[in-house]
Amino acid sequence: MALKQFKAESKRLLDLMINSIYTNREIFLREVISNASDAIDKLHFVSLTDSAASRDFEIRIEADKTARTLTVSDNGIGMSAAELESNLGTIAKSGTLEFKKNNDKPADDTEGLIGQFGVGFYSCFMVADRVTVVSRKYGETEAHKWTSKGVSGYEISDAERAESGTTVILELKADDDDVKYSDYLEEYTLRRLVKHYSDYIRYPIKMRVERSVPKKEGEGSDIEVTDETLNSMVPIWKRRKGEVKQEEYDAFYQDKFGDYRAPAKTITASIEGAVNYSCLLFIPSEPPFDYFTKSYRRGLQLYSSGVLIMDSCEKLLPEYLGFVRGVVDSADLSLNISREMLQHDRQLGEIAKSLEKKILSELSKWQTSDREGYEKFFSKFGMTLKFGAYESFGAKIPQLKDLFVYYSTSGRFVTLKEYVTGMKEGQNDIYYAAGSDLATLQSLPQVTAVTAKSYSVLLMTDSVDEFVVKLMNDYDGKKLKSVSSEDLGIETEEEKQASKEKTDSSKDLLEEVKKALGTNVAEVRLSGMLGDYPSGLSAKGELSIEMAKVLSAMPGNEKIRAQYVLELNPSHPMFARLESLLTSDKEKFGRLCVLLFTEAMLTVGIHPENPSEFVKLVNEFIA
Ligand code: ADP
Repeated sequence: MALKQFKAESKRLLDLMINSIYTNREIFLREVISNASDAIDKLHFVSLTDSAASRDFEIRIEADKTARTLTVSDNGIGMSAAELESNLGTIAKSGTLEFKKNNDKPADDTEGLIGQFGVGFYSCFMVADRVTVVSRKYGETEAHKWTSKGVSGYEISDAERAESGTTVILELKADDDDVKYSDYLEEYTLRRLVKHYSDYIRYPIKMRVERSVPKKEGEGSDIEVTDETLNSMVPIWKRRKGEVKQEEYDAFYQDKFGDYRAPAKTITASIEGAVNYSCLLFIPSEPPFDYFTKSYRRGLQLYSSGVLIMDSCEKLLPEYLGFVRGVVDSADLSLNISREMLQHDRQLGEIAKSLEKKILSELSKWQTSDREGYEKFFSKFGMTLKFGAYESFGAKIPQLKDLFVYYSTSGRFVTLKEYVTGMKEGQNDIYYAAGSDLATLQSLPQVTAVTAKSYSVLLMTDSVDEFVVKLMNDYDGKKLKSVSSEDLGIETEEEKQASKEKTDSSKDLLEEVKKALGTNVAEVRLSGMLGDYPSGLSAKGELSIEMAKVLSAMPGNEKIRAQYVLELNPSHPMFARLESLLTSDKEKFGRLCVLLFTEAMLTVGIHPENPSEFVKLVNEFIA
């Protein structure tokens, strides 16, 4: 029989697969099993109206170490000679090839695509030198054999087969320094691959296994051969929620996602809409060790009718929900690579949108149903949610703002809504202070002054907080105001009047202080909000002190600084000292200005550039 050539495109795909350094060879088994399952699906369908077609449907794996062959057979619909020819001899206009043609992407990307959308039958050539397919179509009496050594072409000849179905025989490549192909003949490997990729195939995947069974004492053991089903067949996410115990979900999560802790939250859903899908999602109780690094791979496992298509499909989750683990199964997605990639993109996009909504609504429910658990969650992943608000340039703030909880000077975590509800009569704004830690914030002069008037202040300690606040601007019409803002509006009329008078009379002094500090400060002003402190620091303009700190910590940004405003407390004895030195000793006056400025910097957690100089100054003035 003459050797037939593959169609040009098939040849290119084969080349691409075999010759690219494609690392994920093991997926060939998933491909073969999923074809077998599809073929059984087809006969299963026929059997609904034709009882002759009905049988005990199964997929069988057989490893022959002597012959070095791995065989996968099914009792499905089978293929006629013509179908062998057209299905295995060509791949009509495959999406992957189109992609390769149109995009000059590096090889890596192409590999990614192959892995994502299934390479089909041809992936067998990644592990086998020769592939033989014996198939008998349901309703026909003859069987045929298709055999190929890869790119060189294929042959079709007559064959025998007892019933309808297909047998795929892989003659494995010889082991080399890089790959031990014979691993695919090991029971352990096959079990692992089936569990990993095909656990939820609806038909039993059986394998003969040998077990040694001990005879009576002292009489050695017998080898017993039994059929074992390697897959569990019913996906846990397809079972009704009430039928599955939390322990089962926990075990599934721990097993699948390699976390020794139980998840903090389990979310199940079956969605019918633009795209239908079921999902089983988990929120880990702790971030994975590499969560905040580049090496963390976010994404959900994507199944199509029980067949694993992708291990972590990034597209299903926005970056800010990257901590969510789980499984999505949609019958609307196809493994077929001949489908347009774009269509996949659109379907995935629809699922992603719906998932995001679902997750956010679950978080919101969690916040009310189990506040303690939610706060614990928020302490681990809240920052990530805030990044979602920031990264979207505020676009996601409407969905996210009610999920945020902040520690308040009232001694507990509150949502913005709760803060607003608890506002004092006549309070118009939401007060907050941003800094690196609670202790620093709690003793911040401005915070002390505001709380002294029995207002509560939200203490924000995540680096992204103030950026989000700036994007949010207000909540429910109430402005978010930093306690170091110039006009907090909490002074009484008398206080306002007094401070105006004091400012007028201190005009010259303030100018001299500014002169003494030069470009270090953009402004010097009086403040009645400094409590026991002689000085405090705030910022002018859009860039707050905390924001500048965050930005300047990034490479290339070292020079970024906020425009400092030095605030002086006119009721503090140090202020009188300044006044007297201005007339008696101008040089010492200058040094006191530097001291007060450095102290103010320290209160907001900025270290002096020259600490010993600062120590000298302190000693000069306490002496
Ligand atoms: P895909 O499964 O994505 O269509 P494949 O390259 O894996 O692409 O398979 C090509 C075609 O060969 C399948 O669509 C199917 O018609 C046929 N086929 C493959 N394996 C089997 C099988 N075990 N039984 C029946 N038909 C099969």
